[in-house]
Amino acid sequence: MQRLFPFLLYGLSVCADGSREAERAGPGGDVSSEAPPMERIDRPIRRVMTEEKVVALTFDDGPDANCLHLLRLFKEQQVRATFFLIGNRVEKEPDIVRALHAAGMEIGNHSYTHANMKDLSPEQVREETLQTQAALQAVTHTAPRLYRAPYLQYNESLWEVLTELQMPAVNASVDSTDWVPEITAEMIFERMTTNIQSGDILLMHSWSGKTLEVMPRILESLREQGFQFVTVSEMRTVGEDGFIGR
Ligand SMILES: [Zn+2]
Repeated sequence: MQRLFPFLLYGLSVCADGSREAERAGPGGDVSSEAPPMERIDRPIRRVMTEEKVVALTFDDGPDANCLHLLRLFKEQQVRATFFLIGNRVEKEPDIVRALHAAGMEIGNHSYTHANMKDLSPEQVREETLQTQAALQAVTHTAPRLYRAPYLQYNESLWEVLTELQMPAVNASVDSTDWVPEITAEMIFERMTTNIQSGDILLMHSWSGKTLEVMPRILESLREQGFQFVTVSEMRTVGEDGFIGR
């Protein structure tokens, strides 16, 4: 019999990340009166090490109209996913962002202009990151807790900003490659449903019509394999961060 994932019953607030805080504080540490020490962030999370039958579906580059199609499907099927959004689009499409947030989807920072951070000055990297935090905070009244780099490209300036914000970077363990023109919808379906393991983070793009087309079948197949769909932050509370894809 399949165990119900606790968040689906109680919601995120009950499962505040107590275990991690305790670990950071160390033996005898008093979490309530001491701020946790700054953790250096300098490599992306690729998966979560867990035995729970959970996966995290992630969608980059929104908000866009396809997000609303995905949202309708996810609401019907009680799926929670994570959307990494681009700051300047957040400002143009705040209603879509609000709808995602209101439905319990996790929203992460995917830079302000989708530039490759390796091409930018330290000041620009900082600006790209903070402007998007501010844009999302203004719309959802919540500070995003996760970052995904455009093109999954990092540099020292970016690690510095992420460390300051204590905001982990998230890559993925399974890439749909739905951004490659030659990839067919069927190939995306195969990639997203074959050899999927507990704790996998699946990378897709909301603008991909092919991904949208096969999403109902992806959900059906992964469900049949026993998986539940949670946000990346929810998944991080049931296992350690994994830094190697597979
Ligand atoms: Zn992107």
